[in-house]
Formats: sequence, C-alpha cells, structure tokens
Amino acid sequence: MTRIIHRNPRKSMPVAREGAGCFLIDTNNRRYYDASGGAAVSCLGHGNAEVIGAITEQLQKLEYAHTSFFTSEPAEELADTLVNQSPAGLANVYFVSGGSEAMECALKMARQFHVERGEPSRRHIISRRQSYHGNTLGALAIGGHVGRRALYQPLLIDTYHVSPCFPYHEQEDNLSDEDYSTRLAQELEDQIVKLGPDTVAAFVAETVVGATAGAVCAVPGYFKKIREVCDRYGVLLVLDEVMCGLGRTGSYHAFEAEGVVPDILTLAKGLGGGYQPIGAIIAHDRVIEAIHSGSGAFQHGHTYIGHPVACAAALAVQRIVQRDRLVQQSAQLGDYLHTLLVERFGDHPHVGDIRGRGLFQAIELVLERDNRLPFDAQLQLHARIKQEAHARGLLCYPGGGTIDGIRGDHVLLAPPYITNRAELTDAVDILAQAVDASIEQVN
Ligand code: PLP
Repeated sequence: MTRIIHRNPRKSMPVAREGAGCFLIDTNNRRYYDASGGAAVSCLGHGNAEVIGAITEQLQKLEYAHTSFFTSEPAEELADTLVNQSPAGLANVYFVSGGSEAMECALKMARQFHVERGEPSRRHIISRRQSYHGNTLGALAIGGHVGRRALYQPLLIDTYHVSPCFPYHEQEDNLSDEDYSTRLAQELEDQIVKLGPDTVAAFVAETVVGATAGAVCAVPGYFKKIREVCDRYGVLLVLDEVMCGLGRTGSYHAFEAEGVVPDILTLAKGLGGGYQPIGAIIAHDRVIEAIHSGSGAFQHGHTYIGHPVACAAALAVQRIVQRDRLVQQSAQLGDYLHTLLVERFGDHPHVGDIRGRGLFQAIELVLERDNRLPFDAQLQLHARIKQEAHARGLLCYPGGGTIDGIRGDHVLLAPPYITNRAELTDAVDILAQAVDASIEQVN
C-alpha cells in the first residue's frame, strides 16, 4: 500500500483537486474559501493564467541550468524587480527554494560577513521568543516555538532568546510605547553585553510575527530602537519577512512601516505565491562588499538555487502584484477586513484582541477578556475552530499551545490580495459561526 506521510496521519484529508481565484475545490466538489492563502502563500489566489503561462513558456525554453555554470534570464529579471522595490543599498539577491532555506542562508551570510571583516569570534545569534523561522535545524534553533523545538533540542545550536514585542500580552496598561520599546531594546543590549559584543553576529526578528502568535505588530519605534542597538554593537539586523513580506501587510516590505532597513531580509511565501517553491534573501551592499572584497564568494549553495522556472513564476507574480497595484489593495482590503473583525468580534466575550496590518489579520481567543486568561491548552480551541471553519467551507490558519509561557489561541487570516469585500464579509460570518460552535464545545 502506498503511504504518503501526512501531517496528521490519524485524520483523513480531503483531496484538493483544483483552485480558482480565492477558492479551492476538493474531489467531492466542495468549495473552500482560502482565507489564509494556505499559510500566507497564495497572494494571487489559485489558477492565475498569466503565471501558469509564464511557467509554461519558461519550461519550453529552459527548465534548469546549474548556477555554477550559468545565471538565467528570469533570475536576473526577478532580482532587478525586487531590488527596484527596495530601499537603496538593499540590492543583492540570492534565490533559494523556501523560507527555512532563506533563514539558513541569512545566518551563514551574517557569520561570513564578520569573518571576512576579521571578527571570527562573532558567532552568536540572538532572536525572540514567540517567533518562527522555519523547520530546518538552524532555523528551528533560532525560532522560539517551544513545541516545534522540543524533540530536536539536542541537535540545535545554542541561541539566545529575548522578549518579543507583544503589546497585548506584555505591555502593561500604563506603559507608553516609548517606554515599552526602550525596555525591550535594553533587554537586547543587555543580552549582547552579557554574551560579549565581539561574539554576537546577528539579531533576527519577524517584522510582523506570523505563525506563533498571529499577526503581531511591534509598537511604533520598537524597530528603530532595535536598529540603534544593533548598530552600536556591530550586530547585523536580519528581518524575516518570509510570511509578512511582499505586500501581505499593505506595504511591499513590512519594514517600510517601521522606518528601518535590515542588513539582510528574508522572503519566501508571497514571492512565488505558491506557483513554485521559491525564497530569497536580499543583502545590503555593506554585507556583500565585505564578502566580495574578502574571500570573494558567499560560501553556501544548493542544487536548486535560482531555479529558472521558480524564478519565472515569481517574476510573473511580482509583475502582476505591481501592475495591478495589489499592495495598495492589500492595505485597503486589510483595513476593511479589520473593520469587519472589530464589528463582529469587538464585543465578543471570548475575543481578547483583534490585530494585524493589511491582509494579515488575527483574532486571539481568551477565556476571560479582563485578565487575558487563555483557554486550557488541552482544549485545543484553535484546532477546533479550524475544523469547524473547514466544515463550513472556510480555510483559516490557527495557532496556539504553550509558547514560552505566553499562551493563547489565535486564528490568522491572510487571504489572497485579489479577494473582494463580499468574500471577506462571507468569510468573517463563517468564522464567527466556527468560533461560537467551538466555544460551545469547550464551555
Ligand atoms: N519564517 C517565517 C516567518 C515563517 O512563517 C516560515 C514558515 O511558516 C518560515 C520562515 C519557514 O518557511 P518554509 O516553511 O518555506 O521553510
């Protein structure tokens, strides 16, 4: 008997047969509105004929050429497209096959940068609790998702976690954004000093936190203070925009809203929009110049880096995003979605927070709103909501479990940028039904 290793082998899975716009259809002809774009992947929705055409055309011309011999037209054009949309200096692109690979690549590049500059002692990576950076060993090590790390802990490199910027849970009611972000920046500085500034290579953060906590934006000014600390100690700032980048939060890069520029940026999901597996890093000139004027080449590589078909798909996706002004659409529809969520859940006794930016929105479920008391983790409320929503034809991305002490069930919504107000309205109606049905089960 053939066996595919499913994520949850005890549950039978519907078989997805086709996709059209914001909907997926299974082999029983059931339609599902893809309110999470998979996992914030499908920015253009499903079945986009232009992207499919670009992939087919590329396949007919050239399916693959190894990057030790050649670059390719789509890779060069995609790099230009990304750089044209990025601030000055962020001009050096390296293509990989997904988000975890992009993170591995960023860590190695940060390390090599310091070695090239004559500081081989810089090896430590500082990151944040309540973060997710991928499932390969390096990316898992820096992530703060305790559940995903536990089994593999003995295999992970030592990393150092500081507090996330998580206003709903961690900012006292009477504490200003200014004081809260100063405290967090001080915590980072203390950690750097404790490790020894000449041993720290990089600080890594998701600009807007996705999988572990659900669309958590930093308070204004936080990233500027973090950038200052990094600069003071020569530590590279790596921003992980694998999930929140490329229009998802209503600006092309999520960091645009924070007034900082990272030294290394990682991208993936919305880059290829699900049409091909592809990720990228964009490194600042100062990082690449150190490497080019030192040993001459970045010491890293995979067989499929810069894959021509993946790059052709991503190039088509990014051109459509720009041509059709979909970043602006993500911002506008995101505001609309946020308003719908506030209307529907603002007074809900078990919805403690409604947060996000652009088409990256989440609600957090709590047992008691006043003291932000979570539901018992054993109840798996978030998983119940996913199931109830699924049964009603809605795909959403839930999260929960104990993650470094902070607990909460949340549901993340990240629909394709091509969605519309009517679809969003229906989605929020169904989500409300799913939330109430799930809470009824556990109360
Ligand atoms: N970084 C972030 C912020 C993510 O959300 C993810 C995946 O969810 C990754 C990295 C890893 O990406 P991938 O699953 O493509 O390896």
